[in-house]
This record gives sequence, C-alpha cells and structure tokens, in this order.
Amino acid sequence: MKNLSGKRILVTGGAGFIGSHLCERLLNEGHEIVCVDNFFTGRRSNIAHLMSNPFFEVLRHDICFPLYVEVDEIYNLACPASPIHYQNDPVQTTKTSVHGSINMLGLAKRLKIRILQASTSEVYGDPSVHPQPETYWGNVNPIGFRSCYDEGKRCAETLFFDYHRQHRLQIKVARIFNTYGPRMHPNDGRVVSNFIVQALQGKDITVYGDGSQTRSFCFVDDLVDGLIRLMDSPDSVTGPVNLGNPSEFTILELAEKLIAATGSKSRVVHKPLPPDDPTQRQPDISLARKTLKWKPVTHLDKGLEKAVEYFRDLLAKGR
Ligand code: NAD
Ligand code: UDP
Repeated sequence: MKNLSGKRILVTGGAGFIGSHLCERLLNEGHEIVCVDNFFTGRRSNIAHLMSNPFFEVLRHDICFPLYVEVDEIYNLACPASPIHYQNDPVQTTKTSVHGSINMLGLAKRLKIRILQASTSEVYGDPSVHPQPETYWGNVNPIGFRSCYDEGKRCAETLFFDYHRQHRLQIKVARIFNTYGPRMHPNDGRVVSNFIVQALQGKDITVYGDGSQTRSFCFVDDLVDGLIRLMDSPDSVTGPVNLGNPSEFTILELAEKLIAATGSKSRVVHKPLPPDDPTQRQPDISLARKTLKWKPVTHLDKGLEKAVEYFRDLLAKGR
C-alpha cells in the first residue's frame, strides 16, 4: 500500500532519539516512512507508538551493508551520537559513517533522489573560532578517542560532496549541535540526560572538569523542523548548514538549572575531563536563518521542563 498523498521516506537511525521524532513528524505530515535501524543505541520503545500506523515500516538492518529499498528521499541519521557509545566500538563507528554513507549514497544515486546527512558540530573539533560558522574548517585530533566519530563524520561530508560533484547527486548536509529532549536514552551518557537522571534520583551530579566548558543546547522539535526545512530547500542549497541553538551555557550552569528545575537535593561533584573534550561550542546560524528561514524557538528552560517530565515518567515506570 502506498500513501498517495505523500512521499516514501527512508530514515536511517529512525529508532534513535532524533530519528524517532523525525519519523513521527514526517508521518504526521502524510508521508510513508521506512525506518532502518540496527538498534545499537536506538530502542523499540521510541517508535512503539508508531507501529500501528500502516504507513510506518521498520527494518532491522546495519547500514554498513547494502540496502535495496525503493524510496523518494533519504535522511541518514544512523550513527551512535553519545561519546560513551561511539567510543565503545570505535571501528564500527567509523564504518557506520564511512561504509554506511557510501551505501546510502549509492542507494540515492541509483534512485536519483535527495539524501540528507546528519553531520555534527564535532567536525569543528575543539574550535579556535567562536562561534563556529560553516566556513571554519575545524581543529580536530585525527588519532584521539573522539576521532572515530569526528573523522568519520568529516569523511562522510567529503563523500557527500564528492557524490554531488561527481554524480550530480542532490545532497543536504546538516551540522547538528547538541540536541536534547524526550526519548534520549536514560543511560545515553550525554550531559542533559545524565544530569536529569542524576537529579531525579538524588544522586551526585557529575560535572567533568571544572564545568567551565560550554555547549549550546537545541530542543529536538526545533532541530527536526530545521532538518525538514533543509531537505525541502531548493536544489542549490547543499549545506553544510549549522543547526543548533546559539544560546550558550557552561556545563556548571546547566547543572544548576537542572537542580533548580527538579527541586533536587543532589550536589555537584567534579570528575576528570575526558580527553579532547571541546572547551567551547556555539553555532553561528546566520546561514540557516537566511536560506531556510529557520531559528530555534524553544528556550532552554522550557525544553528542559519537557525533558524532565519525560524522564520523571520513565523512571516512575521503572524503565
Ligand atoms: P542515537 O544514538 O539516539 O540514534 C542513532 C540511531 O542510529 C540509533 O537508533 C542506533 O541504533 C542507530 N544506528 C547506529 N549505528 C547504526 C548502523 N550501523 N546501522 C543502522 N542503524 C544504526 O543518536 P541521536 O542523538 O538520535 O543522533 C542521530 C544522528 O544525529 C546521528 O547521526 C548523530 O551523529 C547526529 N547528531 C546528533 C547530535 C545530538 O546532539 N543528538 C548532535 C550532532 C549530530
Ligand atoms: N559532561 C559532564 N558530565 C556528564 C556528561 C557530560 O560534565 O555526566 C560534559 C562533557 O564533558 C562535555 C559536555 O558535558 O563537556 C557535553 O557532553 P556530551 O557528552 O553531552 O556531548 P559532547 O558535546 O561532548 O559530544
């Protein structure tokens, strides 16, 4: 059965945090979704509410292997995004970005369709230019613990632009900055989910280093809106385009905000800073504002409220 009013869209990594929100939004817009995921960090519970929809299909598949499906568009999100998870099997992480991108680009080339890559602010490494515009080439360690992710994503961008130049493929590259919201895994290891779970459980809040490093946090609904605008933009817009919320906070400020938001008695403790942890990160989103007419609209306090509510409910259910 084909949904005649919409497109058939492949979302790789569709059972993950961002992917599940993207699948839901595209379904609501009348499209048919083929969700591909190997469930490395994604969960069935993220997409359980979509399973009864006849226009939603799930395939358990690792994109490091070729995939033969017939679709009209591809969003390539498959890749673990949390440092603890992508460093768990670094070779597989690089393979997912490199072999996985080659497979998805090959699919897009055969079908002559658009493909969007979920790239990352990590391509800027530990940036010496602040805030980061798309024209900045980055400051990345090629041999460190984060390199499997950073260099994998950089190589994926190279592949996307070579397929564009060599095969005239219509590409869209989004450089996503730290995104948070409901459906992050409670053991994901990223800072927002860690701090919320710790605060709700009354455990120590683990600030790595002195907490003066900065990040800029984007609520997931805003990010998904940016991804769809980028996909639907004219052919001439290839990116890379930064998508993120320019409001910048120190990690210590985030900890304090979450202690206040949860009314927790948790105290802040300091743990060693992981190697190559970027000291600052803030997107320059002038390009997205101009070409996509996009900007995030959710204030951090509002977004954190929604995330706290999600984790409170999840923990109450014992999941
Ligand atoms: P996530 O870990 O929740 O989701 C990634 C999904 O990809 C998971 O469902 C996982 O099972 C799946 N996956 C991993 N390897 C796969 C493979 N080889 N084949 C098929 N599926 C595979 O992470 P997320 O936060 O939802 O991130 C989604 C994408 O956005 C990733 O590509 C990530 O690099 C990018 N991104 C996210 C952020 C962020 O802050 N969340 C920031 C920058 C970039
Ligand atoms: N961080 C922290 N405590 C935690 C988890 C993370 O202080 O329990 C810090 C981490 O060192 C980094 C920032 O929070 O400086 C963001 O980390 P995250 O893993 O969320 O994403 P990154 O932007 O580093 O990929």
